[in-house]
Amino acid sequence: MKTVILSYPIENNSPHYIGTTEPSLEPLTQIKNGDDYNTYKITVGNHSGTHIDAPKHFVDTGRSILDYSPEELSFKNPIVLDCPKNPYELIEIKDISDADFDKCECLLFKTGFGKFRETDLQKYLTKSPGIAVETVDWIRETHPQIRCLGIDTISMSRYRDAENAKQTHITGFKTSPNYGEPLLFIEDMNLDMDEELTIKEVMVVPWQIKGVDSTPCTVIGFF
Ligand SMILES: [Zn+2]
Repeated sequence: MKTVILSYPIENNSPHYIGTTEPSLEPLTQIKNGDDYNTYKITVGNHSGTHIDAPKHFVDTGRSILDYSPEELSFKNPIVLDCPKNPYELIEIKDISDADFDKCECLLFKTGFGKFRETDLQKYLTKSPGIAVETVDWIRETHPQIRCLGIDTISMSRYRDAENAKQTHITGFKTSPNYGEPLLFIEDMNLDMDEELTIKEVMVVPWQIKGVDSTPCTVIGFF
């Protein structure tokens, strides 16, 4: 089976939600400076770069990312939805309701905003579109087999709208008799792949760090 990487590597200044820690890689010992070996100090907030939000991010009684087994982090029949959005725009139910999600376990929203990650990082960080709260609710009510949402922006919610951010995440992560399992959110995804690619399965490999809600991750698409 062939693979495609749908996440970005962590590097100095990797995108991070404004107000959280800026990722940095600091050389410690370096062979070029006369040391015997190379080592680095890596400083990264847990919501930096491509990362996966588990329910505990907004629901304190929810699961942390290391509570999930590899099977639970594998998603069959993912759908990449083309939803071109301008700054601060929201993904509405009408943008996605025509698609056939019947066997889909993971919905990936391609807003097109990912291109600003390279060309205009400030815009990527401060003007991002997001998903409407009603859309998350609709997905959970109508398609309880969907366990994961991903997006090519820094957050699932639009920037500079704290109430939307809170409600979007809580609606994704809370338990309710009307819903399936609480969702996982993958943010800052690389969805700039070949249009023709039909991905059969997505696997998320989070950093194995105990005691935190969410961690940076590698996302592999199998096609
Ligand atoms: Zn996050």
